[in-house]
Amino acid sequence: MFSVPCPSCGFETTLSYERGSNGISIDRKGIRDYDFIKNTSKGHALNCFKCGFEIKDVSYYEKVEDIINQTRLNERICEECEIKEFNNNKLGKVQYKEINGKLICMDCFELKIKSEFPDPTTPDKKFILNLDKLQYELYEVRLPCKDCGRKRWVKANEQWKKQCLSCYIKTKENENDIVND
Ligand SMILES: [Zn+2]
Ligand SMILES: [Zn+2]
Ligand SMILES: [Zn+2]
Repeated sequence: MFSVPCPSCGFETTLSYERGSNGISIDRKGIRDYDFIKNTSKGHALNCFKCGFEIKDVSYYEKVEDIINQTRLNERICEECEIKEFNNNKLGKVQYKEINGKLICMDCFELKIKSEFPDPTTPDKKFILNLDKLQYELYEVRLPCKDCGRKRWVKANEQWKKQCLSCYIKTKENENDIVND
């Protein structure tokens, strides 16, 4: 499979040929024939899948990959960084969001939101951006341990943990000692 860029619109039409069949044809009697001139010479023409522009001197191909071309034709492109939905270096499909009538990828979306709404994180409070709700949510807070006073990060929903881990373990050990006595 390979693709040919259109000199007119830039769209890349995807083409294919069966591996190994290049130049070799088998007729109805099963006789293999090598059709050198027809299949290996350049000079095949192709109409761009998107705009129909006639591209000359295309390498040998057997099939225009309609499904792939149709998908690419409809694929979305980020209006900021121009990343394409399918034809990119990412593992899966790129996700997009529309903002003020502009289609942008999630990476650009996040940058935009972060530039409009600065991260309220402080030395004692960490926030994370929730892209669905478009707001920062408290993630971790730095709280002093009630016993040793040492500050440590605690998840926002675990602020009931008043002791650091080592003080907590010490307390538990003492409790056990009392029970054992
Ligand atoms: Zn074209
Ligand atoms: Zn982008
Ligand atoms: Zn402590």
